[in-house]
Amino acid sequence: MFSLSKQVLNITRHARILKQINANAKLLYIRYDREQNRFYSADAVSCASEGYKKGIILGHYLNENGEPVLTPACCKFNEKMQGRLLELIVKSGKWKRGQCRCFNNIEDEFWSVACVCLGQKNLGYNILEAIDESRESVREAAGSGAQCLHAQGVAHIFVEGLGRPEQAAEGTALGVWRYQEFKNKKHRMAVPTLELYDDPDHESWQRGLYQAEAQNLARRLCDAPANHMTPTAFSHEAISSLCPCGIKVDVHDKDWMESQRLVGFLTAARGSCEPPVFMEIHYCGGPVEEKPIALVGKSTTFDSGGLCLKPCYQMSKYRADMSGGAAVVAVMRAAAMLSLPINLVGTIALSENMPSGMAMRVGDIVKYNNGLTVEIQRTDQEGHLILADSLLYTINNHKPRLVIDMTTMTRGIRHLLGSAAVGTFSNSEYMWKQIRKAGVITGDRCWRLPLWKFYKKKTSKYTYVDLNNRGHGQGTPCLAAAYLSYFIDCVDWLHLDTTGIGLIAQNRIYPYLTKDYMMGRPVRTVIQLLYQLACPNECDRPY
Ligand code: ZN
Ligand code: ZN
Repeated sequence: MFSLSKQVLNITRHARILKQINANAKLLYIRYDREQNRFYSADAVSCASEGYKKGIILGHYLNENGEPVLTPACCKFNEKMQGRLLELIVKSGKWKRGQCRCFNNIEDEFWSVACVCLGQKNLGYNILEAIDESRESVREAAGSGAQCLHAQGVAHIFVEGLGRPEQAAEGTALGVWRYQEFKNKKHRMAVPTLELYDDPDHESWQRGLYQAEAQNLARRLCDAPANHMTPTAFSHEAISSLCPCGIKVDVHDKDWMESQRLVGFLTAARGSCEPPVFMEIHYCGGPVEEKPIALVGKSTTFDSGGLCLKPCYQMSKYRADMSGGAAVVAVMRAAAMLSLPINLVGTIALSENMPSGMAMRVGDIVKYNNGLTVEIQRTDQEGHLILADSLLYTINNHKPRLVIDMTTMTRGIRHLLGSAAVGTFSNSEYMWKQIRKAGVITGDRCWRLPLWKFYKKKTSKYTYVDLNNRGHGQGTPCLAAAYLSYFIDCVDWLHLDTTGIGLIAQNRIYPYLTKDYMMGRPVRTVIQLLYQLACPNECDRPY
């Protein structure tokens, strides 16, 4: 066996490595050569080639002086290593919240030990940031640790509970997810197994896994290319994800849509050769007589913009213009897996928005079932046409107590909020407070925007039609919400404009959501909201 002091001495000798460590690199690999008793900085690929498979994520907090304080599980592990782990953590330089450093080959059972920093203990609720920092810090730390181990080819990842097993599961399961169905099998990253380590709270861990799995399902549906995720293919995917959980799925064809006179939807779908599909999904977890909550998802499986064609460089990401529908499927699956005592109905209108000789024209007028007429001013605002039909149909046929629509509605919302929060509109103060609280808990936050008459007037003052799918002036997200409010009748309503958060992760702001993959948001927030509404007495946190 080697002596601890000798190892530490060796670390300090390797000034070059220490310099790297002090540069606070987010991902760092330190490899120990037992024979030569020397440390090396190593790249992930060379580590992966060594054929070792087990890794563990262990956490520590920082005290007021920035010194590490080990979590109970990490403390035990450190004792097992006769204090060597703590010395490595201390000597490896300053730590920041969410940071991970992997120490490889320092212990017999686990080839890689990923140490993650949780920041200060008892961070709690940050009112200005509208987030529960203690939960988010666990997600961030677990996500960083998981990405770090995964990149080295670790096949079995063990995670200690980090004080919050539910969030540890979410961070880890989201962090290791990749979309690689179209990659040669030889070049795919192995999907690691995840296991809770030294923590009795398996129930919370499992709940976190279900929630992350739902978000990953939405991510997979969104990331699939549009030629493989047509409206028909989406409905097949939805059936295979939902029916085994006891959820009822009805798939309607074009004839049915004509019989229901869903003219707005049919007009938007007309430009494509792919037949449109309308899905109705039922989950009954509550008493039969209880009114359901309706989830309405916009699901344009490819949005080229139609005759108002989008610029080429950003067109490909609009394969995820069905992220609203994907979120509906994911939330309903999670509701079933978590056995939420609530009734849900989901409606998803699936189509493509393409230019062709059959496509809708600028200036065309559509007459809806509630008598309102709409002029198409921009064919790229097909969401306005589709959602109007979906909302009318859902409210008239299912008489829900709350309608939540998830829609990639306007680019304006991304200019306004970026990927920080989902633009939220509501006609109910209570529902807004509930979804805000849900966002605080999940870290996938909501920000309220006005649903004022000011904007309603700007969508409706026309000489020969009632409404227009663009409206007048600035503030497109608010104009879009105002337009939709004409199709909402006497029911609580949450409109989530998800263009900013529902597409690709363009940076690494969330360590548990890998850059360049779809984000699958706001799935966990909606699951949390449903949980709060289903079990109001179990969610009395001070948010
Ligand atoms: Zn669209
Ligand atoms: Zn569009």
